[in-house]
Amino acid sequence: RKKMVFISTGSSNFDTLLCGGIETQSITEVFGEFRTGKTQLVHTVCVTAQLPKSMGGGQGKVIYIDTECTFRPERIKKIAERFDLDPEKTLENILVAEAWTVDRLNQLISQAAGLMMEDTFSLVVVDSIMAPFRVDFSGRGELSERQQVLGKTLSRLHKIAEQFNVAVFMTNQVMADPGMNAAYAVDPKKPIGGNIMAHASTTRLYLRKGRGEQRVCKIFDSPLIAEGECVFQITDGGIAD
Ligand code: ATP
Ligand code: MG
Repeated sequence: RKKMVFISTGSSNFDTLLCGGIETQSITEVFGEFRTGKTQLVHTVCVTAQLPKSMGGGQGKVIYIDTECTFRPERIKKIAERFDLDPEKTLENILVAEAWTVDRLNQLISQAAGLMMEDTFSLVVVDSIMAPFRVDFSGRGELSERQQVLGKTLSRLHKIAEQFNVAVFMTNQVMADPGMNAAYAVDPKKPIGGNIMAHASTTRLYLRKGRGEQRVCKIFDSPLIAEGECVFQITDGGIAD
């Protein structure tokens, strides 16, 4: 069995909370309301994943599955500069593909496995995991079918995480705000995807806004890490203390 690697978030407070960073061989899920920094966080980790292991990196390439059309090359270049990496090379090492449907998402996961047999990767990002499932299974009666298909996709992601010693880092949405729709009489701070998602994610991180550009991360559900929270910032150079 290969040695687990911890990839830095860009914030030492955050890394301390995670006992080192985003770990390989497992699935980490980050959820929170809009603009809490989920996409900025995964962008930062796309860059740190390429750093040498001695610098908190994963020393590998990245696969980024974009389901919300929010991947921004300009942000990657800025973050690369902060870590003294060549912006263009850093961008080239991130293979980005869009997925609007569950079929496409599954196809990309299979292709990712193929690529990992040829080259060294350290990270797979899915931003966000539930978007294609929400599109493909929008009816109420389709929920149990959706969950079944979701379970299969997540188990494939788990398999590649273990087989290729990569971190799978996915973002997730929260339940709609009850104030916006009376039909959702639920906790708005709940990640979607139900029990299937809860069981698949080894580490679940909940982000919320703090003061100004400050954000707070709370460990939501982890068998290994003690509950706790940390404060970090979103900067031009990515996530920082
Ligand atoms: P959504 O649920 O809508 O996808 P998200 O959690 O992915 O939201 P992000 O897009 O990661 O949210 O975060 C957006 C926030 O990041 C902005 O509101 C802004 O505060 C901050 N931000 C974005 N770019 C920069 C930058 N260059 N410098 C500083 N802060 C930035
Ligand atoms: Mg986002």
